[in-house]
Amino acid sequence: MRRFLLLLVLAVFAVPLAIQQKWLAVPPRWDPWAPLDIRLAPNLLTPFKLWRLQDDPALCRQALATSPLRYTALADSAPAADCPLQNSLRIQASGLRLSSSFIASCPLAAAFGLFERHALQPAAQEVFGQPVALVEHLGSFACRTISGSQRRSQHASANALDIAGFRLRDGRRISVLRDWPGEGAEARFLRQVQQGACDSFNVTLGPDYNAAHRDHFHVDMGLLRMCR
Ligand SMILES: [Zn+2]
Repeated sequence: MRRFLLLLVLAVFAVPLAIQQKWLAVPPRWDPWAPLDIRLAPNLLTPFKLWRLQDDPALCRQALATSPLRYTALADSAPAADCPLQNSLRIQASGLRLSSSFIASCPLAAAFGLFERHALQPAAQEVFGQPVALVEHLGSFACRTISGSQRRSQHASANALDIAGFRLRDGRRISVLRDWPGEGAEARFLRQVQQGACDSFNVTLGPDYNAAHRDHFHVDMGLLRMCR
């Protein structure tokens, strides 16, 4: 037991400290203090690196510079606002087009970049042999509570996005509502995308979670970890 505790203390405190002080050299993707690089596939440290972007606009810009995301930074809202926004961006496009621009917290924007590169496009190439050209979404920021509860939704801080479907380069449309229940290539693609999303976003909920999600994937960067 004592040996286990010692190992735990080493893992949680000593190793990150040694890396931070540069006593121990590790590649950037295994260095918790190195800025997030969206070109590298997510790993165990990614949730921590995404979380660090929350209150650090400079670190956020550094991370987003490693992705094709096109965005404008938004001014922080007044403290009196019902659903104040801090360190938020308006995402206009990425390596693909969006059905419309959306507001995102920095961690959500960076996670979207990871998702596009490491889950969405590889799944489209594998199943259809072509990339996704457009993501159809139902919005991100909405000053509201979770439906059927008193708790604030992650949407209230632009920390969540609802993805409804995709359009491939040849114009073919894939819809969560229509194609999730099927058995064909579209359904296989959607399942792969939903599973892949779990590596980038903290929470990914789809039609199997409940009826409220029958027509979209809800992804968010809240404190929970869920993949359903
Ligand atoms: Zn949602």
